[in-house]
Amino acid sequence: MFQHMTISPIHSNSAKASTRDTIQADSQSVTRDAPLRSIWDRIRRKLRAELGDDVVASWFGSLELLGIEGGVARMTVPTRFLKSWIDTHYAARLRRHFATDGHAASVEVTVRGEGREAGSAKRILPRRTVEASANLAGAAIAGGNARSASEPQLWQGKKPHEAPMQLSALDRHLTFDNFVVGRSNQFACAAARKVSETIGGQSVYNPLYIHAAVGLGKTHLSQAIAHACQAEGKRALYLTADRFMHSFVSALRSQTAIQFKDQMRNIDLLIVDDVQFLQGKTVQQEFCHIINALADARRQMVVAADRPPTELEGLDERIKSRLGGGLCVEIGAFDEDLRRRILARRITAATERDASFRVPQEVIDFVASVITSNGRDLDGAVNRLLAHANLAGAPMTLESAEVAIRDLIRAREPKRVRVEEILKLVSAHFNVTRADLLSSRRTASVVRPRQIAMYLSKTLTLRSLPEIGRRFGGRDHTTVLHAVRKVESLIDNDPALKDEIALLKRMLTE
Ligand code: ADP
Ligand code: MG
Repeated sequence: MFQHMTISPIHSNSAKASTRDTIQADSQSVTRDAPLRSIWDRIRRKLRAELGDDVVASWFGSLELLGIEGGVARMTVPTRFLKSWIDTHYAARLRRHFATDGHAASVEVTVRGEGREAGSAKRILPRRTVEASANLAGAAIAGGNARSASEPQLWQGKKPHEAPMQLSALDRHLTFDNFVVGRSNQFACAAARKVSETIGGQSVYNPLYIHAAVGLGKTHLSQAIAHACQAEGKRALYLTADRFMHSFVSALRSQTAIQFKDQMRNIDLLIVDDVQFLQGKTVQQEFCHIINALADARRQMVVAADRPPTELEGLDERIKSRLGGGLCVEIGAFDEDLRRRILARRITAATERDASFRVPQEVIDFVASVITSNGRDLDGAVNRLLAHANLAGAPMTLESAEVAIRDLIRAREPKRVRVEEILKLVSAHFNVTRADLLSSRRTASVVRPRQIAMYLSKTLTLRSLPEIGRRFGGRDHTTVLHAVRKVESLIDNDPALKDEIALLKRMLTE
């Protein structure tokens, strides 16, 4: 059952909420929770009858219907992959159902945390009531899916069930030779090398589980293992969790699931990248069978994710324990020395292709000192330097390099938050006016948002307690302190409020 259909603020002002809740007679705007939920329930039932439970659970399990306005049914999903899949495969069908049931002529699917729905605080309330359904696993990580556009697509241009299950389309640059080893990744790299040497034999670390924040080389190391495996004439299969899901569900639909499973088992090495995106109960069960079968047959598995196995939300406990049962390695943030060496390697490669591309050492040092985030941004910096060098026609200097990568540096600076912005967001989010927040009104619907606004001001700005008191209608600093402590203790005891405040913080800082 879908519980996360609510679009009204948690602490909404009831008088205002009731006007918004009316369904207009002409059905131009259906925003009240209950009708919205029943519309979606009915449509989902029809989809199930047409497509089967698995398909609906896998593709629509994490879909949320935000509302129907002006003839448009607006929905969100947690990942871009899901959006594009639904757009290409199910848009017409959804349109048909919404036309007959929801009086909507068109449908619009957006990615949560991106695009138009990000602008509205009320529409992206944290999922407080999400039922512990495996189908929503992917939803729990909405917004965090920074995937590279250059991610190798194993079955590009083919229907999934026609796709060969052999390895294809690995990025040829992602090899061990091109992987620069430093303090934060030496252990992971050593483990990956060891694994690649023992494929087909007595595997020592199975599965090898690599986890790290974005851009620190998980995909690079996983593919390096695949290349090494291929070079030995062994069969490796590299898949992202998205792709796994996609191909499995397609195989189910085209009734080639048995072949799919056989092919899966018929390999020497299975790599599943970004496993935090694995969602859907049936898909997870199948994944579990496959990894069990591979483990029993002593085949090697490599899994990469942005978090350790224990923190994979919504994933079946058996899968978690299986994944964590081998060797688990983490890649930490790059230190400056590693960044400098990765840059130098990239620049040398670029210079080999174009001898006119010369980057002075001081520029490399400078870039390594300011681009502190991850490998993707280092790549971005080199690309900007290349473009700049092509256009400038003059030798690169520290100054010209600084101009070339300025946008990357800017994007990394933490955004300054102003009390005014906090007041604006909090009042919109909780449906109270700015004047209410600054007033001395003591009704519960105003007090809590006011305390949260004070708490946010204390944690996100550099203002002192007395200054914050002054900004909130000339209150005493002890009132502000009380509010901060109050919210801290509420957060400790109320996970839903904790999520909600984390969301507000993200909206203010990102
Ligand atoms: P992740 O999968 O962890 O998000 P990637 O493997 O896609 O990160 O790495 C992002 C970019 O940084 C890639 O271009 C990759 O080649 C590069 N990179 C990461 N770590 C290293 C390293 N140790 N040496 C060289 N390049 C690296
Ligand atoms: Mg990756």
